[in-house]
Amino acid sequence: MTTTNSPSSIGLDLDSLRAGFAGDILTADDDSYDAARVAFNAVFDRRPAVVARASSAADVAHALGFARLNGLTIAVRGGGHSVAGYSTIEGGLLLDLGPMKAVEVDPEARLARVQPGVVWGELDRATQAHGLATTGGRMTTTGVAGFTLGSGSGWLERLHGLACDNLVAAELVTASGQTIAVSETENADLFWGLRGGGGNFGVVTEFTFRLHPVGPEVYGGMLMYPRAQAPEVIRHVRDFLREAPREVCGGALLMHAPPAPFVPPELHGAPVITVIAAHWGSVGEGEEALAPLKQYGDPRVDLMGPTSYLDFQAITDAGNPPGRRNYWRSELLPDVPDEAIDALIACAAQATSPTSPIVLSRVGGAISDVPDEATALSGRRAEWLFHCYANWADPDDARHIAWARATEEALRPWTMAGMALNFVSDIDNNRVRSSFGAEKYDRLVQLKRSWDPENVFSMNQNIPPGS
Ligand SMILES: Cc1cc2nc3c(=O)[nH]c(=O)nc-3n(C[C@H](O)[C@H](O)[C@H](O)COP(=O)(O)OP(=O)(O)OC[C@H]3O[C@@H](n4cnc5c(N)ncnc54)[C@H](O)[C@@H]3O)c2cc1C
Repeated sequence: MTTTNSPSSIGLDLDSLRAGFAGDILTADDDSYDAARVAFNAVFDRRPAVVARASSAADVAHALGFARLNGLTIAVRGGGHSVAGYSTIEGGLLLDLGPMKAVEVDPEARLARVQPGVVWGELDRATQAHGLATTGGRMTTTGVAGFTLGSGSGWLERLHGLACDNLVAAELVTASGQTIAVSETENADLFWGLRGGGGNFGVVTEFTFRLHPVGPEVYGGMLMYPRAQAPEVIRHVRDFLREAPREVCGGALLMHAPPAPFVPPELHGAPVITVIAAHWGSVGEGEEALAPLKQYGDPRVDLMGPTSYLDFQAITDAGNPPGRRNYWRSELLPDVPDEAIDALIACAAQATSPTSPIVLSRVGGAISDVPDEATALSGRRAEWLFHCYANWADPDDARHIAWARATEEALRPWTMAGMALNFVSDIDNNRVRSSFGAEKYDRLVQLKRSWDPENVFSMNQNIPPGS
């Protein structure tokens, strides 16, 4: 069925929206509409009735009021990376925060105030100008906003905690259009919910993050071995990372080698096992700490050495271009026994697309220092994270989705509850409940009833107020 979204066809009084809104208002009649509606995950090719590109908290409040008055479902977009398709909508109002790009770094206080349209590459550049950083995404184009609200797992997390652990304060526009301050001391109940509870409670129009001295030069990078060596390489990585200090981050990826200049031609397109790691001390300390990884076996690609923090943060960018189709499953593990490693390798051998990797990352460290009850997020006692992302370009979605689901099921004997939902497609209410656990879920429902009783913010890992 073809949907028409011209303003006249849906009878919206867009003049009243424009009257109180400083940013751009786009409909299907505008040339820039298609560029504005497109999402990272091409599975979600949706056509909003209207795209409101906010420039301020006042714009956000006005657009929310307009959508509610007109009975439009709202999707809120920060960086647009939601693999579950939450930041796009068919026929409703897409509130795009992309134009809100301000970043203010206070190097003395080691704080950054960040607007919600900022993506990680932009924030990292601004903080690295002062030799500072906070835990951010493993891809430079992921949005700060959705990433932080849903937990925020990044390479710095073992030393400095998740992104939501570095959130000090937020400015939030509520469902009723009020702008409020949220922190440990102001609306503390909401602060608890924002740290892992996703976009359920309002639109964050400013984040304040704690920063830490990092880089600018660090030691880290990537090693690549033929896939036949995966059993021993992953065991070695597991044994090394199990004992490594929290200054070390890293993991192993079962993937296909890209046709990149740094890969020997005979490995182009071949199944490989890739190791990524970094150390957050000086280059000398990093070289010493990562020597057991770098000196292991005979890697066919060795890009481990001194590098900039910014380059390390971009290490997976090339493998994840926007516009491909994605379906993700992910789980936490308390440990990775040999049998789990063998299961991962067997699943990787069945991958239905050469761009679908399986990732095993070490977590733990500072994530586990935060008391479980301090934030909405659960799963803090996990030591490992498994992430399988089906990523394809052909139209046979069912085949690739089936592979990701089967891979998750194969790992089930070793998983634990609490996986953050940012890494997951296809989230039903059971999955939301089990991710938070019964007690936290009930507390989130109470919070939702207080702050969004009509479920204005429903395009997210939703906590229905009536549940
Ligand atoms: C290629 C890729 C790499 C990734 N890497 C990582 C990684 O290393 N670590 C990790 O933890 N996750 C990672 N993710 C997952 C990522 O954290 C989530 O997709 C996250 O939601 C992205 O944030 P965003 O602002 O780009 O998302 P969007 O798609 O814009 O939004 C996601 C959700 O957050 C809500 N939201 C967005 N902005 C606001 C706001 N200001 N106020 C209230 N609600 C808001 C949206 O409504 C939606 O429900 C990755 C995703 C992709 C596609």
